[in-house]
Amino acid sequence: MATKKVGSTGRFGARYGRKVRQRVLAVEKKLKAKHKCPYCKKLQVKRLASGIWFCNSCKAKFSGKAYTPK
Ligand SMILES: [Zn+2]
Repeated sequence: MATKKVGSTGRFGARYGRKVRQRVLAVEKKLKAKHKCPYCKKLQVKRLASGIWFCNSCKAKFSGKAYTPK
């Protein structure tokens, strides 16, 4: 379960250890957050796949880092 404390890593339950889960959480927070589009400057960019980002506003599809657009 996703709680305030463990966030999206709640799906792992008590497995894998706290440190690893915290590391995953830091990455997933960035991944799921709305990012700024380099073309229209709006906060509408979401990740389609690893390294592929899509702007819901101007429909631009561009490459970036695996977990963050930049
Ligand atoms: Zn855009």
